[in-house]
Amino acid sequence: MSRVIVIGCGGVASVAIHKCCQLDDVFTDLCIASRTISKCNKLKEELQGKTKTNITTAKIDANSFDDLCKLFKEYKPDIVMNLGMPYQNLVIMDACLECNCHYLDTAAYEPENVDDPVWRKQYEKRVKEKGFTAYFDYSYQWDYHEKFEKKGLIALLGCGFDPGVTQAYVAYAKKHEFDRIDEIDILDCNGGDHGYPFATNFNPEINLREVSSEGAYYENGKWYSIPALSVKDTYDFDGVGKKDIYLLHHEETESIVKNFPEIKRIRFYMTFGESYIRHMKCLENVGMLSTTPIEYEGIMITPIQFLKAILPDPASLGPRTVGKTNIGCIFKGVKDGKEKTYYIYNVCDHQESYKEVKSQAISYTTGVPAMCGALMILKGLWTKTGARTVEEYNPDPFIEALDKYGLPKRETYNPVLVK
Ligand code: NDP
Repeated sequence: MSRVIVIGCGGVASVAIHKCCQLDDVFTDLCIASRTISKCNKLKEELQGKTKTNITTAKIDANSFDDLCKLFKEYKPDIVMNLGMPYQNLVIMDACLECNCHYLDTAAYEPENVDDPVWRKQYEKRVKEKGFTAYFDYSYQWDYHEKFEKKGLIALLGCGFDPGVTQAYVAYAKKHEFDRIDEIDILDCNGGDHGYPFATNFNPEINLREVSSEGAYYENGKWYSIPALSVKDTYDFDGVGKKDIYLLHHEETESIVKNFPEIKRIRFYMTFGESYIRHMKCLENVGMLSTTPIEYEGIMITPIQFLKAILPDPASLGPRTVGKTNIGCIFKGVKDGKEKTYYIYNVCDHQESYKEVKSQAISYTTGVPAMCGALMILKGLWTKTGARTVEEYNPDPFIEALDKYGLPKRETYNPVLVK
């Protein structure tokens, strides 16, 4: 028996909800709460009759602490799965603390407007202290650690694939394969083709902000920032083939370094095609990626939000996306006094995901781990309280659940390394 609220009803939330409903003996009561209630009702209708989960829906503005508390107090959830936007992470965490429920999300907090002067001041301070310049980082949510710990609650941060499964892979490698990990390369490859000249495979605002940010990596105790997309290589991915990879900043590199201080170097790479980069650079050059509202014919619009409104909805890419994703971690380290390498990853097929839950593989590879993270908490398999990331928990039951519920691991020894 459990009561769960899912906030958001987009690509990722829809997959997580489908998967929760497949495990209706655990996820017995589920409330889909989002900004556009018609989407929640449509999903509820699709699922009813196929699951024993008792589904309800609610309209919510996740920016409103009062509205969130009203809903949480009425519904009394054991856990709130925040699968909407990362802009609302902090207010949803506040409401969870107020109403005594666990919290889970899939992306680190970032502000809606990165030109906001109050946020900017705190950001500049962090850049000086930490040395990397991305707009998203865990510091804001780690500030909640003690508050959650004191209340005996869990805030599970970043429980998608990357962040999320990638950190479980690190904990798994450390537990089973290495005495010491020296280097990690996280590789995120989307070999899918949706047939559009330009579309993003998850929320366009968050995707474009992430990719157009400066990149960063960690080496020998220091963070290094690099201009966006300035470090490029190629890698031949199992199930996909050769792809260009670009070094980005990603939030899990920060938590992995914190939790495994032995690591000497960690980098994160993502694949992009030429068309994606050409379009993104052009949109950036003309100001369409700006998060600062401007006045247009008497109304205020935020360029990147307007852009999102005209781009294909990632949730609509499912039927037309073909190909596979391949996401995982390559390790270098030492076991029993000998140097070794190890690669653990998952390959996910866009069309198979669509057949199962009517979503493409990017939403699938995020929604399934979100469900598995909630499962770990609800079944009492992960109990450490506080605001924590996935690598802080026992990776075995989580990876077992991923194997069982749609994202099986593959492993190779002596993989080709990134230069
Ligand atoms: P979508 O844009 O498809 O969905 C976002 C949902 O949030 C929509 O249903 C939207 O409502 C709802 N929403 C937005 N603002 C509010 C608000 N103020 N109040 C209530 N609901 C709101 O995004 P995705 O599903 O693609 O992505 C969801 C999250 O997953 C993002 O944070 C993204 O960064 C993260 N992600 C994480 C990955 C990982 O591996 N860790 C990979 C991919 C994504 P409406 O329908 O009205 O627009």
